[in-house]
Amino acid sequence: MTRRPLVAGNWKMNGLRASVVELEAMIAAYDSHLQARAELLICPPATLLASFPAVAAGSGLAIGAQDCHPAPCGAHTGDISAEMIADAGAGFVILGHSERRADHGETDSLVRLKAEAARRAGLVAIVCVGESEAERDAGRALEIVVGQLAGSIPDGATGADLVVAYEPIWAIGTGRTPSEADIVEMHGAMRAALRERFGAEAEGIRLLYGGSVKPENAGTILKLEDVDGALVGGASLKAASFIAIARAYL
Ligand code: PEP
Repeated sequence: MTRRPLVAGNWKMNGLRASVVELEAMIAAYDSHLQARAELLICPPATLLASFPAVAAGSGLAIGAQDCHPAPCGAHTGDISAEMIADAGAGFVILGHSERRADHGETDSLVRLKAEAARRAGLVAIVCVGESEAERDAGRALEIVVGQLAGSIPDGATGADLVVAYEPIWAIGTGRTPSEADIVEMHGAMRAALRERFGAEAEGIRLLYGGSVKPENAGTILKLEDVDGALVGGASLKAASFIAIARAYL
């Protein structure tokens, strides 16, 4: 099965209305050659979710959110639901990012409920998993990540509603990345775990690598076995670096 590569940008808590110039520059650079090779996605903060989908409409570049509440509506001050995200015109939602797990105490079971909500609303969930440096040093990286996968992904997931992002916590925003062998080993272990649970459906689930992906290392990382794209933080804020990463697929 061929999986369409996905290069996703997570803007985190960055971006004001004026940042639309970066989105516009990305759209301008997302020509038919690049569209044929890779799918592009930008996940801006919630304040920009109201305007970015209209800007990107018809360009092929998708827009996503960075989190959602499990419930469709209700008394949850400050939260937004998967239905609201879909209503804004977005198609994806990042769930269980390590910053949300750390800052908001999100557990695997909560992430799973959110992934179910995303599917209910017709969104593609990008479920993030990844070990801490102490866990890797203790030789527990595979066990931790496979355990997070088991707990965070809902039953019945398919390639049409789920993407997984492997993001070692110690590689996020640090300029450090795992070795090529470690990325291949982890992605292979995740694919095997998905096969065991979902059978042939696992072949359609894209596995992204995230953590200090830059134009300089994208060519190497994106060609590794079972790496179906990247989740990019800092380097996704500027069109020049984000597009340079995606162009690794040309
Ligand atoms: C992220 O937080 O999802 C991420 C990958 O960040 P960065 O690319 O900045 O390491």
